[in-house]
Amino acid sequence: MGRLIIVSNRLPITVSCDGDGIELSSSSGGLATGLGAVHANSESLWVGWSGLDASASPAARRALQTQLTSRRLVEVPLSDEEVSIFYEHISNGVIWPMFHDQLERLPDVIEGWETYESVNARYADMIAACARPGDTIWIHDYQLMRVPALLRERMPDVRIGFFLHIPFPNPEIFFALPRRQWLVEGLLGADLVGFHTRRYRGHFTAALRRLLGIEMKNDVIAYGKRSVRLGYFPMGVDSATYAERAADRKVLAESARLRADRDVCLLVGIDRLDYSKGLPRRLLAFERLLTTHPEWLERIRLVQVAVPSREGLAAYQSVRRTVEELVGRINGRFGTHRWTPIRYINRSVNDTVLSALYRAADVLLVTPLRDGMNLVAKEFVASRVDGDGVLVLSEFAGAADELTRALIVNPYDVDGMSESINLALTMPRAERRERMQALREHVTKHDVSEWSETFLATLVQ
Ligand code: UDP
Repeated sequence: MGRLIIVSNRLPITVSCDGDGIELSSSSGGLATGLGAVHANSESLWVGWSGLDASASPAARRALQTQLTSRRLVEVPLSDEEVSIFYEHISNGVIWPMFHDQLERLPDVIEGWETYESVNARYADMIAACARPGDTIWIHDYQLMRVPALLRERMPDVRIGFFLHIPFPNPEIFFALPRRQWLVEGLLGADLVGFHTRRYRGHFTAALRRLLGIEMKNDVIAYGKRSVRLGYFPMGVDSATYAERAADRKVLAESARLRADRDVCLLVGIDRLDYSKGLPRRLLAFERLLTTHPEWLERIRLVQVAVPSREGLAAYQSVRRTVEELVGRINGRFGTHRWTPIRYINRSVNDTVLSALYRAADVLLVTPLRDGMNLVAKEFVASRVDGDGVLVLSEFAGAADELTRALIVNPYDVDGMSESINLALTMPRAERRERMQALREHVTKHDVSEWSETFLATLVQ
């Protein structure tokens, strides 16, 4: 039985460098936790970039190497220039907005595809150097879409799976991408290409039909002499850990602190500060609610965690300014000497605070304009061991295909969202509990281990 080689842009660690010394901590993002268990429980290798500055001293580099080896992690070193072009400019500045339907955010002239290709080739070289016959390779996400084909050139017989963690856009949008065919051909180097939802797979097969004239039959397409399976595998969360944490003493104490004001209902939002998350319209909906339903004045509070993200890109600086202006305006307009409507937290929070927020919320607001899955929605449900709480969920999050008992909203409809928030706040207890129970059954059953096991079982079948 061969080993599994996991490949992602970043290794699942954060490196802090202090002169010649080095410290490693585990990262907490969805992909890192999702695959962490698979990596911990097998002989797998994990290939990716460490995030270490290219200017780190040789001693720091050696120290890093030792620690990586002991964790079965393999580094693909990237220069500052490569990070800037491959990661920031092409991956986050072109592919990310396009795949989230934000065509108007594309630069007028897109330069840097050669660097995306050469960095992807470096990943393929590193995988080929590590792989033994019989190994299975699982490549992740939009930064590495050319790796399957580049690896196939190097290792024609190796088994390759690819999972896309972000949406695949409608072909009407995707066709605007100058390098559309090249990117699709990159993915078709895999034996299995996985998406979060049936809809994203449908967009991909529609693109294949138009670009290459290929049709899918029984989940498989014929591509040259090979066949490629196309599947959808909605990613879950580690629900057992969230349930356990929700009952932790420290979490309960923090949750009680958040609920100290018993007369105030708590709305919670937890997002990376990204334009795809729909924060400005969410804030406008909250403002509208305070205008149209003044009975909520001094009786609700929104705690919004906005985790800083990709701060070097102008689009992210701009959404941050917009969000901060709106928070300031709403707090200024409605706040009183004893009440501030929005508590805005512009940093990441630790696991205890995160679980306490999930546990304390009367209503969780997840209103992205487009989101591949949205794990926050599922983490909230997994944390509600008390069986209460309402999830307001955008119809444009992948999670909405599964979490149908949430209050589903159109995140572009500010008035509608504001009415849905009111509905969530006034929902009878019995209905809240009945909906949450249905959500919990789904999230508990379809957890992240089920996700990785199903993907890998489909890949080796
Ligand atoms: N999260 C975090 N730090 C925080 C707040 C949230 O690491 O301060 C985590 C959260 O628990 C979730 C992930 O970030 O696992 C966000 O994943 P999601 O799919 O919702 O959105 P993404 O940021 O991947 O677009």
